[in-house]
Amino acid sequence: MSRQFFVGGNFKMNGSVDSIKSIVSNLNGAQLDKNTEVVIAPPALYLLLTREHLGKNIEVAAQNVFDKPNGAFTGEISASQLIESDIKWTLLGHSERRQILCESDSFIASKTKHALEHNLGVILCCGETLEQREANKTTDVVTAQLAAVAQVVKDWSKIVVAYEPIWAIGTGKVATTEQAQEVHEAIRAWIKKTIGDDVAEKTRIIYGGSVSEKNCKDLAKQKDVDGFLVGGASLKPAFVDIINSKI
Ligand code: PGA
Repeated sequence: MSRQFFVGGNFKMNGSVDSIKSIVSNLNGAQLDKNTEVVIAPPALYLLLTREHLGKNIEVAAQNVFDKPNGAFTGEISASQLIESDIKWTLLGHSERRQILCESDSFIASKTKHALEHNLGVILCCGETLEQREANKTTDVVTAQLAAVAQVVKDWSKIVVAYEPIWAIGTGKVATTEQAQEVHEAIRAWIKKTIGDDVAEKTRIIYGGSVSEKNCKDLAKQKDVDGFLVGGASLKPAFVDIINSKI
């Protein structure tokens, strides 16, 4: 079966009203591959602005969501608030949140469960440090991050797994096509063994870490690379070329 190609744009803590309007207007005016699903994740402050101006062919994601219903949780945003605002996706488990904000595997798993229960799609990030890769621990680390989610989530139909080696994020040091394919294949094999054949066949596993208009086409040709999560380049006009990397 063929999985629909998926490209996410993670703006991180970048942008302003003007620059986000300009990115959105560039996307609205571009010829985008109709076979590719596109989701962009601006900072929380600009979610509504983005949704208001962006064409309906592109969905909007939050960069994070909390694991509790509305209530006394200063600084957090709930899944139901996102859904009410027509924000249908969220990123979870990004390495910057794991490392800088000290988010644990189990907290990320709990947030994933809660988001899915509210019908949000989840771009679930996983990835290893350079040290872990050099110690041959990549598959163990990545599958442990996913295993925490598998313990509490049964239905994976609204999860897109983003494999993002930490050493490749924002460094300009992209994984080689072989390195990416190898880990994506290992993740798919793990899903098959742990969750089931059908889920393994259907789950999109996308790559993130210094994806650019220059390296996207070769990466996109890999059997188990079903798309990209793009940071820096999603803020630039070249994001359109990455969206169109299959054509
Ligand atoms: P990058 O970021 O494309 O700037 O490396 C990717 C990400 O963190 O999702």
